[in-house]
Amino acid sequence: MPLTDAQLAEIESHRGQTAPTRRPTVPALEAMLFEAIPVLDHGFVRVIDYMGDDAAIVQAARVSYGRGTRKVSEDAGLIRYLMRHRHSTPFEMCEIKYHVKLPIFVARQWIRHRTANVNEISARYSILDREFYLPSPEHLAAQSSINRQGRGDVLEGDEATQVMDMLRDDAMRTYDNYAWMLNEGDADPNRQGLARELARMNLTLNTYTQWYWKADLHNLLSFLSLRADPHAQYEIRAYAAAMLKSVEAWVPAAYEAFQEYRVGAVTFSAGMLDVVRRMLAGEAVEQTDSRLSKREWAELMDTIGKAQSSPG
Ligand SMILES: Cc1cc2nc3c(=O)[nH]c(=O)nc-3n(C[C@H](O)[C@H](O)[C@H](O)COP(=O)(O)OP(=O)(O)OC[C@H]3O[C@@H](n4cnc5c(N)ncnc54)[C@H](O)[C@@H]3O)c2cc1C
Repeated sequence: MPLTDAQLAEIESHRGQTAPTRRPTVPALEAMLFEAIPVLDHGFVRVIDYMGDDAAIVQAARVSYGRGTRKVSEDAGLIRYLMRHRHSTPFEMCEIKYHVKLPIFVARQWIRHRTANVNEISARYSILDREFYLPSPEHLAAQSSINRQGRGDVLEGDEATQVMDMLRDDAMRTYDNYAWMLNEGDADPNRQGLARELARMNLTLNTYTQWYWKADLHNLLSFLSLRADPHAQYEIRAYAAAMLKSVEAWVPAAYEAFQEYRVGAVTFSAGMLDVVRRMLAGEAVEQTDSRLSKREWAELMDTIGKAQSSPG
């Protein structure tokens, strides 16, 4: 478990407190509040706070005076309509705040999503924990030969052992040097110790950092559609999967619409649509007589579940 006993006690005491409110609350998300969902070997995601629910999306869409909700099925239908037609601003009425502990290399990908509010632990002020992400054997894979941004087969035998040893030893050595340079608590009274803001530059990218991350539902779903996608790197997908659980508990109707119209949906280019129409009309279309490149053609065949008929 990534949390210390003191941290767990703090979370439990926080969870023990409730306050009356006129604001809408969601029992399924209340049940998850503050609890750490473990991710990777030392990371976690926990929901710290939220605003709004499915009804808030409907309320904003109808610009209502009261809750603005009708029958559950009508509200869900409106949410599906909004998602289908990319009417996004009603989804921005809901907000959620997470506390995330994640390796620095995952944080670098994550921070590219600019439409969120972030506050990261300061390694100028605090000393980072001696914790590094080390992939489990099934995630220690070779470079993909077909995708420059992907992984291929899992490493095995001596190579896997040597890679794991290097990852562990390098991280430990740089951390030991970090601790030596800091000279915290005057470990060596004859040295001044290097400033924290400088010593940290020696750490490896698999060192864990932490942040509070707050986003509205529209931007959270955009983040999740990219980072829960199979094209995203496994390590950030693991965080997206944990966050999806909280979204499902929080706004079940929006979650379902998201699965239907974003996760499960595909986009066809004009050229792809032309091929599909010609195929539906009974024509035996080949890549060479379509407007599609070989790569686009392969993607289309994959999407529609058709074996490739064109060589290359
Ligand atoms: C599989 C994958 C591979 C990637 N590879 C790379 C890579 O190799 N190199 C790399 O640098 N990045 C890479 N990225 C990051 C990617 O380019 C985006 O930066 C990231 O996905 C965030 O997307 P976003 O800008 O839509 O999100 P947000 O920053 O959350 O923005 C959401 C939307 O708000 C608008 N917006 C926000 N800020 C601005 C602004 N300043 N100006 C104009 N419009 C704005 C845009 O419409 C944007 O789509 C990769 C992402 C993925 C998912």
